[in-house]
This record gives sequence, structure tokens and C-alpha cells, in this order.
Amino acid sequence: MRPLILLFCLLTTLACSAKPLPLADDRPVVRPAPWLEYLLTEQALDFPEAARAEGWRTLGGRSLSLGYQAHPVWVRLALHNTSTRNDWRLLVEWPILDRVELRLYDPAADHWGPLLQAGDHLRLSAWAEPGRQPLFPLQIDPGEQRWVYLRLHSKEAVVAPMQVLSAEAYQAQEMDQRLLLGLFFGAMLAVLLYNSSLYLFTRHPSYLWYSLYLLGVVVYELSLSGFGVLFLWPELGRPAGLIYAGSALWSFLAATMFARVFLRIPRYGGWVLWANNLLLGYWLLAIALLFLHPQWLVLLGTPAVALFSCVLALVTALSLWRRGNPSAPLFALAWALLIVCTAVHVAALQGALPVNQFTLRSQTFGFFVEFILLSIALADRINRERAARIRAQDALLTERELSLAAQRGVNEELDRRVQERTRELEQARHELERANGELTRLSYTDALTRLPNRRQVDEQLPLLGSDELAVLMLDIDHFKRINDSYGHPFGDRCIAAVGEVLRQQVRRSGDLAARYGGEEFIVLLRGCARGAAERIAESIRAGVEALRLEHQGEAVALTVSVGLAHGAAGGYAVEPLVAEADTALYAAKQAGRNRVGGAH
Ligand code: GH3
Ligand code: MG
Ligand code: MG
Repeated sequence: MRPLILLFCLLTTLACSAKPLPLADDRPVVRPAPWLEYLLTEQALDFPEAARAEGWRTLGGRSLSLGYQAHPVWVRLALHNTSTRNDWRLLVEWPILDRVELRLYDPAADHWGPLLQAGDHLRLSAWAEPGRQPLFPLQIDPGEQRWVYLRLHSKEAVVAPMQVLSAEAYQAQEMDQRLLLGLFFGAMLAVLLYNSSLYLFTRHPSYLWYSLYLLGVVVYELSLSGFGVLFLWPELGRPAGLIYAGSALWSFLAATMFARVFLRIPRYGGWVLWANNLLLGYWLLAIALLFLHPQWLVLLGTPAVALFSCVLALVTALSLWRRGNPSAPLFALAWALLIVCTAVHVAALQGALPVNQFTLRSQTFGFFVEFILLSIALADRINRERAARIRAQDALLTERELSLAAQRGVNEELDRRVQERTRELEQARHELERANGELTRLSYTDALTRLPNRRQVDEQLPLLGSDELAVLMLDIDHFKRINDSYGHPFGDRCIAAVGEVLRQQVRRSGDLAARYGGEEFIVLLRGCARGAAERIAESIRAGVEALRLEHQGEAVALTVSVGLAHGAAGGYAVEPLVAEADTALYAAKQAGRNRVGGAH
């Protein structure tokens, strides 16, 4: 069954190529590939010579795609206008052909029509009809037959998908395509402006190379869609040919750089970095050659390297994805989609897929999807970096807070210890003061009688002298005897007993009763009149006499002699007054003891 179908197809193809292509009212758009014949020759022929030449071949239904050709390629097509219109056009949907020449041949009259031209080496004003793509009017009246002869010049691969269509159909188709292309360029320009302004704000090299890559692709697409020649550089002529190749090479270079910075390839090193370095070098060399020696560019095998470069970008992304690069998955997806769309495009040009607007524009669509995905990948990466930065800042803040808290803890502990130590010191100081006070008290106190001692008296005496003052000097009578008779301990008891009497008799504040030495006492009575002093002296004397001391059951009598001296306010000196009291005491002793001397 299958061989039969194949045979049928072959026969119909042959039949078609033998017969002219009928132009009909009900088929306003025809792809003429099945009716095309081409001729490859190294000879420089003119149109009539080409028409007579041997070696014309059919395409077998494929779209015209003949690879690199050193010499111009001849293409022909027989047309039979069976329609009612005479405004048919031939459209070559490949605006980057250097030059396309066309002449109509009328076999019946053996007449050649005028030479019509178009192509990117010509100014738009020299084109047969201005348009995005080479467009030729076909002057064939209804019912007439003509041969269309084309000569194609191209330094790139010879690719020429074609349509024969009515002027009306052409207009309708152009409307649709320009709308779609306008949308594409609008979207690409918006993304380009957005990302380049992001670069200006963030200075992130990923944005720069993304924008430069996108810029290259936009220019490439302007060339390939014919928008460039129609709107941007119509009168540029020959140099326009460089724009297509230049933008393509630039796009590859920028894409390689973008992959490098976006995927952080230098960090990974190894074959990934080597491959990236090699490709960068290659695309730089290719760009240099394009501008210096374009004829050598063919030697570099650019289409094969381009394909390899795309596949390598995908493999690199997949490898980095496996190694945990978070930017790699979206990058790989974007690149895979572009490769698939480009493969569809190339397959159509090579005849493996039908040529139509979808397959012809699939690469453009692939770019669109790729750039949108990459833009998302960029945003995702920047967002991830921002999140990481915020996390790091938070961690830093927490650390600082922790260290501050620790510092606070240490400070509190220090404070606590200082306070504790201060309290202890305070306590120690109090203790010391108390001890000092005790020591002072002890040093001014007589241990036996607990009365002030001689030292205190000596310190007090110089402070006196202005107020009225009475001084009493006391001495126990015959004390030697008591000591001798009853022993020293008993003598001490006697001294203590006299001290007790003094303590009871001298109570007024400001007065002072002290042990002056051995068994002698002194009493200082401040602001005390002579009479009162005499009464106090007498009551002391009587107090001692009234003591009932016993030694081993035996009553022991004890008496004192008192010497009194009185100084009126401002009328005495202290030392003489004390000496006077001493003298009075001596007098009392002389007078028989147990009495007050010096009283008037
Ligand atoms: P007079 O009446 O003339 O004062 O005779 P007296 O024996 O008291 O003579 P004097 O005042 O000279 O003697 C003081 C004696 O007191 C000498 C000493 O043995 C004795 N004495 C002095 N201090 C102390 C003391 O602290 N304790 C005792 N038990 N005896 C003392
Ligand atoms: Mg004495
Ligand atoms: Mg005595």
C-alpha cells in the first residue's frame, strides 16, 4: 500500500512541476514550492541563457533551502493565470537575501519583461515594491501564461520560502503579521527598557547582559522580519547586510556572557567554565572577522557552532541544576523552549516540516517565551538574593542583640557584685568605726571604775577657762594601809566603790568625774557656784564615808579627803585652779583627813 502512495505522490509532483501553477480566484494564496525548479551553475549567465541551460531540478515539494552557495542560484516557476485578476504578487519571505532579481518570460511571444529587484543590499527605493520582504508584481493578464525567473544572491544560506498571492490577500496577511510583529517588538522593548533600567539602578551585571542579549535579538528580529529595512534603515543599502549577521553574532556573544554571570559559571569552574570561555573567544573572533574579513567567516562554521552553543547552554544549565544552582531550572527551561522553537523553524526551512506562518515565526515566538522566562528567572534570583540578604541581616541583628543581652547580663552581674562589695565595705567600715569608737572610749576610760581617765581630763582642761568652774581633787585616806592590811584586790574594790559614789553624785551633763591616778580622783563642775560645789564635795565625802565595805566579814572604814578650788567666770586659769585644788586637798589631809579643804 505504502509504495503505491509514494509512487502516486512522486507522479503528482512530477506532473505538477511539468504543468504551470494555476492562479485561481478561489485560491488567493499559493505556496509555489512544488512547482519550483532551480539551477545551480558556476557560469555567469543572463536570464535568456539561464532559461536555455540544462540541469534544472525540482525541489520535490520542499521549501527552497539550498545552504551556502558560492554562486547565484536560479529559480523558475511557470504560472497560468486562470483567475479574473491581474494583480498577483510574488512574495519572498526572507528579507535578508542580498539581492533577488526577477524577470517574467512570455514563451508565446518569446518576450522578457523588465528586471525587477529587491533584497537587503539594495536601498528600499530600488525595490520593485516597498515592503518588509522582497515583493514583486506579476503582470499576467487573466488567461495568460508566464515563466517567472529569479536569480538569488546571498552570502548567507540560500533560503527562500515563497508565496504567490493576490494584492488583496497580501494586504490582509500583512495586516495580521504587522500586528503580531508589532506586539512582539512592543513586548520586547518593554522588557528591554525594564531590565536595562533595573541594571542602572542595581548595577547587577546579569541585567546588563540580559539587556544586551535582548537588544541583539531585537535587532536580529528586525532584520529577519523586514521591519528594519521597512521602518528603520530603508536607504542603508549594502551595509544593511551586516546588521543581520552582526546582530546574530552579538546575540550569541551576549547570551554566552549572560549565562556566565547569571549562572555564576566561574564559581563552578571545570568544563562548564572552559566551554563558556571557548565560546566567548569564538564569538568575539567571529564578530571581529565579520567586520574585518567577512569572506572568512564561512570558514568558522558558524551555523554548526551556533547549534552547538545552544545545546551547550542547555547542558550547562542542566548540569548546574543537578549541582543545586537555584537559577538553573528556569534558565534550562527557557533555553530548551528556544531550542525547540528554533528547531521547528529550521526544520520548516529544510523541508522536514510544512512551511507556514507558524513554522516561519516559531523562532520569534521562541525568543519571546525565552526572554519572558529569563526575565522571571532574573526577578526570582534577585528576590532570592534579597531574601538571603535580609536573612543575613536578621542573623546579624540577632547576634548583636544576643551579645548586647550578654553584655547587659555581664553588666548586671558586675553591678550586683559591686553593690555587694560596697555593702561589705560599708559594713566593714561601720565595724571599724565601731571598733575605733570602742578603742577611743576604752583609751579615755578607766578600766577599774569605768570613769573617764586622766587622759580625758588632760584633753578637757585646755577647753575650759571661760565658764565658771569648780575643781574637786579627791584622794582616799590611808590607802597604803588598806592595801597592806587587806591586799591589793580589796584596794581595787575600794577604788571602784569610790568611783561608783562619784558616778552617782556627779550626774549633770557637762560635769566630769574622772580617775586622776592611783587612788586619786578629780571632778570638774562647769557653771557651778562655789556654794553648790561645796555641797557636792561634802556629799561625795559623806557618800564615801557611808560605804559599808567588808573584808572577810570585817567592816572596813573608807574615807576621802577633798580639795576644792573655784573660779568665777572669766576670772581664773585652769592649771592654777587645779593646783589650787591640789593644795586644798593637801590642806584637808593636814587638817585630819575625811574633810573638804578649800571651802570658805
Ligand atoms: P594619805 O592619807 O596621806 O593619802 O595616805 P596614803 O596611804 O593614802 O598615802 P598615798 O596617797 O601616798 O598612798 C597611795 C597608795 O595607794 C600607794 C599605792 O600602794 C596605792 N595605790 C595606788 N594605786 C593603787 C591601785 O590602783 N590599787 C591599789 N590597791 N592600791 C593603789
Ligand atoms: Mg594618794
Ligand atoms: Mg591616799
